[in-house]
Amino acid sequence: MSRSGRSNRKIRYAVVGLGHLAQVAVLPAFAKAQNSELVALVSGDAEKRYKVGKKYGIQQVYSYDDYQKALLSADAVYIVLPNHLHREFAVRAANAGVHVLCEKPMAVTEQDCQAMIDAASQNRVKLMIAYRLHFEESNLEAIKLANGGKLGKLRIFDSEFAQQVAAGNIRITEPVENGGGPLYDMGVYCINAARYLFRAEPTEIFAVRANGGDSRFRKVEEMTSVIMRFPQDRLATFTCSFGSADISRYTLVGTKGLLTADPAYDYTIALKQQITIGEKTTTRKFAKRDQFAAQLVYFSDCILKGKEPEPSGLEGLADVRIIRAAYESARSGKVVKVPELPPKKRPTSHQEIRRAPHAKPMTVNVQSPSGE
Ligand code: NDP
Repeated sequence: MSRSGRSNRKIRYAVVGLGHLAQVAVLPAFAKAQNSELVALVSGDAEKRYKVGKKYGIQQVYSYDDYQKALLSADAVYIVLPNHLHREFAVRAANAGVHVLCEKPMAVTEQDCQAMIDAASQNRVKLMIAYRLHFEESNLEAIKLANGGKLGKLRIFDSEFAQQVAAGNIRITEPVENGGGPLYDMGVYCINAARYLFRAEPTEIFAVRANGGDSRFRKVEEMTSVIMRFPQDRLATFTCSFGSADISRYTLVGTKGLLTADPAYDYTIALKQQITIGEKTTTRKFAKRDQFAAQLVYFSDCILKGKEPEPSGLEGLADVRIIRAAYESARSGKVVKVPELPPKKRPTSHQEIRRAPHAKPMTVNVQSPSGE
C-alpha cells in the first residue's frame, strides 16, 4: 500500500529540528490538524529529544545520525532546520519515499531548490514550501481585492519587514552563503507578497545593502532594500532589516485606491488592513489563527488526495532566485535581469483554512530570534 493510501486517513509526520519555530508553532499545531499526526522527532539535542518527546507523548525520537530510521516511521517530514540544511534533509526524505514540507526560504541557491524539486518528482512524493500566508485570510483577502479591480490598475507595492535579531541567532551567525541574513529570512515574505499580489514574476532586480556598524552584523548585512520591476512597468520595493524595531507592513497602491496591511506577515498576533478607495477608508482586523495547523491540514490533504500543493517547489525557487539576484545586484551595483518563469498556480481565497490559535507553549533549550 502506498504511504498516502493508509486507511486511517492521517498523514504521519516526523518533525526535523526542534528549534524555536518547531517548539512554539509547529509541534502545537498538530492538535488542530485532524488529518495529520505527529509520530517522530529528530533533534541533535538529547535533552530536547527526551523532554519534548515526553511533552507530546512521542516515543520515536531520533538523532540526525538516525535520520534514515526516522524516515521509516513517517509518511512526511516537516523540515524546520537552518536554511543551509533544507536541501540535504529534503532530498534524503524524498529518496526514502517520504513527502516533504519544508520551511521557507526553500534553500540557499537555485541549484539546491532544483535538486529538491527533482528528488520529489523522481520519487513521486509531494513537496511543499511552508508559505503559511497562502492559507491566511488577511493576505488572501488582499489578493481578492487587488485582483477584483477595486484598487484600479495595480502600480506600486512597498513593504518593510524588520526585527532586532539577538546576537548568536542562526539568522546572523550563518553567513549569506549559508542562507543567513535578512533577505533569506524576512525579505522572502516581501518578495512572495509582491508576487502574489501582482500575480506575476519580476523581470529586473536592484538592491542596496547597509550596515550601521553594530557588531552583530559581521557575517550578514544589517538591512537590504530591493526594487523589483514587474511586467506592465509596475514597481515593488521593500526593506528588510535585522537591526531595527519590529515592523511588518506592506502597501499596495493602484490607480484608484490603496491597501495597507499592518501587521501583514505575522503569526503571533491579529493582522490588520486599511483600505482607501476614493474618499472612503475602511479598516479590517483578522483574528489570530493557527497558521501552522492550516498548512499541515492543506499539505496532508494534498497527499491524501494526490493533489499538487500550490506553494510548490517552483514557488520556493521563484523567491530564492530573486534573493540571489538581489545579492548579486547589491554586490555589483547593477540591475540584474531575471529570466521568465513558466506560469504557475497562485494562492486564492479557496485556500483559506481557519484553525483557532493555541496557548504559548513552554520551550526547551531554544532562543527566540529577538532574544526575548
Ligand atoms: P532555530 O535556530 O531556533 O532552530 C533551528 C534548529 O535546527 C536548531 O534548534 C537545531 O535543533 C537544528 N539544527 C540542526 N543543525 C543545526 C546547525 N548546524 N545549526 C543550528 N541549528 C541546527 O531556528 P528557527 O526555528 O527560528 O528557524 C528554523 C527554520 O524555520 C528556518 O528555515 C527559518 O527560516 C524558518 N522559520 C519560519 C518561520 C515562519 O513563520 N514560517 C518563522 C521562523 C523561522 P536541534 O537542537 O533540535 O537539533
